[in-house]
Amino acid sequence: MNIKKLKVEGFEEVLRCDDPRSGLHAIIAIHSTTLGPALGGTRMWPYASDNEALTDVLRLSRGMTYKAAGAGLPLGGGKAVIIGDSKRDKSPALFEAFGAFVESLSGRYITTEDVGITVADIDIIRTKTKYVVGTDRAKGGSGDPSPYTARGVFLSMKECARRVFGSDSLKGKTVAVQGVGSVGTNVVKHLVQEGAIVTASDVVREKTEKLVNLFPNVTIVPQEEILILPCDIFAPCALGAVINDRTFSQLRCRMVVGAANNQLATLEHGDRLAERGVLYAPDYIINAGGLINVFCELDGYREERSLQYIQEIPRNLSQVFEKSEKDGISPARAADRWVEKRLAVKSLASSS
Ligand code: NAD
Repeated sequence: MNIKKLKVEGFEEVLRCDDPRSGLHAIIAIHSTTLGPALGGTRMWPYASDNEALTDVLRLSRGMTYKAAGAGLPLGGGKAVIIGDSKRDKSPALFEAFGAFVESLSGRYITTEDVGITVADIDIIRTKTKYVVGTDRAKGGSGDPSPYTARGVFLSMKECARRVFGSDSLKGKTVAVQGVGSVGTNVVKHLVQEGAIVTASDVVREKTEKLVNLFPNVTIVPQEEILILPCDIFAPCALGAVINDRTFSQLRCRMVVGAANNQLATLEHGDRLAERGVLYAPDYIINAGGLINVFCELDGYREERSLQYIQEIPRNLSQVFEKSEKDGISPARAADRWVEKRLAVKSLASSS
């Protein structure tokens, strides 16, 4: 197994591993361990080039630093990518080699699932390293993170409603949910229970059919209509960069509050939303419920502890909004500054 250090400005450690025996080609990026060990999933993807894989792992690991710090967790940010096709290139030897790669970092990086990685793969990785979370409840793990992510998003919608309408009740409020996969469906469940009027869309028909079976009062619209629907809340729960130059002027909502990662194509899109009077709840602040849930696995999983942490998400969001008002900047920018300050304070405390 060949492990090579890559020098990347602004990152604590970036390592590339090539293992000819198992066919493993992987990169682990540790953006920051200022607040604690770097936790972030492993993604398996058939990247077109090594450069594309590196760009992705760097972007994702930095995002994890911000998400953990925003949630007030004693965790840093890291991420791993395995270059390969998850349908064709998996083997026990590959995941054993990857487990050994994770183990070589002695706990500075803790992994979990991401796109292309299943619980079965995690189980093999675990045979070579203890620095892994996100296993089945039956095996003492924290299980599927999606309901916890959805809970944080729903509580954040209530916080936004409180700011915009003066009451946190979502009864009778109109919500457009884009993407009803694992998280989106759970968000809809909370909204329906609260008495909100929900419209949803998904590119996969079976997903919307399943949703309507569960919640017959939800209206389904084609995917291109969900963005332009007049509504109180637009909830992106599918893709990143959904707020971009093309979609920006089409939005007809009072607020954007959803689970998807990296919703803004650029930070400037966050500024423009604020200029238009649309309240944007920064994604990494409000979608941290899943991360919080796997974090709770580190010292023996207890659901009550996870729920207690998730209850704090609206308070974190509220602090971001207060900073945004005080500094006269958009919530998207305020979130970054708020988190960067937390990191700077901790860095200073550790170095003195
Ligand atoms: P998922 O794959 O289960 O669901 C995503 C859904 O979006 C799918 O049903 C897919 O068909 C649909 N979709 C894709 N493109 C679409 C489009 N253009 N219009 C409408 N629907 C579309 O994923 P998930 O776990 O529910 O995650 C949803 C989002 O939340 C992702 O951006 C993910 O990165 C983010 N997120 C998830 C978690 C978690 O706990 N699962 C945590 C944090 C962030």
